[in-house]
Amino acid sequence: MATLSFFGAAGTVTGSCSMVETDGVKFLIDCGMFQGNKTIRALNDEDFPFIASDVDFLILTHAHIDHSGLLPKLIKYGFDKPIYATQPTTDLLTFMLKDSARIQQSFSIRQNRKRARKGLDPLDPLYTEEHAEGVFPLLQHHGYDEWFEPSKDIEVRFWNAGHILGSASAEIKFPDENGHTMRILFSGDIGPEEKVFHPEPGGETGFDYIIAESTYGDRDRDDYTLVKRRQMLKAELVRGLSAGGNVVIPAFAVERSQELLHDIGVLLASGELPHATVFLDSPLAKNVTDVFIKHAHTLDDVAVENHTLFRDKNFRLVESVEESKAINLIKGGAIIISASGMADAGRIQHHIKNNIYKRNCTMLFVGYQAPGTLGHVITSGAKAVRIHGKEYDVNAEIRRLGNYSAHADQGELIEWITERAPIAGGLFLNHGDDDARSELKKLLAKKGIEEDMIHMPQFDETFELTAGDPKSKGRGVKSLGAGPERIPKDELLTDWNNDYAAFIVALSGRLNEAKSDQERRKLLAKLTADL
Ligand SMILES: [Zn+2]
Repeated sequence: MATLSFFGAAGTVTGSCSMVETDGVKFLIDCGMFQGNKTIRALNDEDFPFIASDVDFLILTHAHIDHSGLLPKLIKYGFDKPIYATQPTTDLLTFMLKDSARIQQSFSIRQNRKRARKGLDPLDPLYTEEHAEGVFPLLQHHGYDEWFEPSKDIEVRFWNAGHILGSASAEIKFPDENGHTMRILFSGDIGPEEKVFHPEPGGETGFDYIIAESTYGDRDRDDYTLVKRRQMLKAELVRGLSAGGNVVIPAFAVERSQELLHDIGVLLASGELPHATVFLDSPLAKNVTDVFIKHAHTLDDVAVENHTLFRDKNFRLVESVEESKAINLIKGGAIIISASGMADAGRIQHHIKNNIYKRNCTMLFVGYQAPGTLGHVITSGAKAVRIHGKEYDVNAEIRRLGNYSAHADQGELIEWITERAPIAGGLFLNHGDDDARSELKKLLAKKGIEEDMIHMPQFDETFELTAGDPKSKGRGVKSLGAGPERIPKDELLTDWNNDYAAFIVALSGRLNEAKSDQERRKLLAKLTADL
């Protein structure tokens, strides 16, 4: 009997981690960090709901931290077996896990300072650079469409998932106790059809079970082409630069920064953009860009003959703090790309501080901004923002470009799933909130996948799987329950901290709008009465 457990990304989009157990062999698919509200992040500090040293191997779909970020914690808990991924993924991990460890270590220093003031003992960081380095000797890489055997009778191959450099879906087959061959496909994160660098996602057909992501299960984007998107970027940049100030772009270090550099490089080379100096100010993004250059021969839609990728004479890939600070002296005509993508940490905050109060500057947001992040506050129309304890007026032009996405939208997810049919045993929708999953489930049922074959696994839920028998279609899945609750379901997306932040924002808005101090006092008295 084989079982499948969902230890993360069930009803939410972070902390991807699933386990398959067959014939005494246990393996994980991804081991990602929980991100989002404080309650869900606290799960990172808890013990794993399994014994790390009992796991026989791990299959990693891609390098994003919400899929790979707890690998160093696995090492800390005694895991020492092979980790399989594509080569670009293993190359990216070298930089990303060390960067993540440094973030954990500096977070822990700050937390321990606060604890010391309260007379509390210091706590260890989630993991250290040493734990991250412990991951690297375990990494083994395989190319797309190449079968390998991580354990006797268990075969695996990767398919291009078109999401980020090196991203893969994982096809797994092994015999069940009746001698049938069980075929399972984990989608990993699926990319959109129109994406620079990567061909559209692929895969085999005919599976017993498919585990599919559903991030945008309830969202359809406007259709766009790479050329159209580049033209929209051009319009934003021309607009921003002609105002005389700088254009500041918060961007994720992996993939988004390289997409922007590539698009800007194409626009500069064709003379469609006025001369501008382009800074990529993020040490991680610079290292990741080098990994892209290493794998340039595998990328789509780029001309690599002259080794010009990311090498325009106007580009400055900044590493040192001194170089980064020197950018502050530039008053206009620069495009500054920096991480983090949601402006909640990193060097981008310095660039925002230096430009957001200036009327001739532009803040251009090109990615999703999660509630509670500085990026969300700015894009929600705040008149002033607090950064590093100081308040700055928002006078710059705030602009958004919504069509840079690394995820398939609703229509593309449905297409990817239905193209993998027939599905004999069942389809599990994970990596999506319940609204996205329910909507996707409804639409897939209309496309002919029986509704009782589509499952929305809950946090820590385990299922018993039997190889697909067309006669017992859909009934081959049995839930074995979910184990002790680690997080209340209604706190997967937002928790009381989010409610509190929203309340404070609403309150200060009401106080600002009030016509008199008397009205303000009345409002506060009314609220105090409820305490
Ligand atoms: Zn991803």
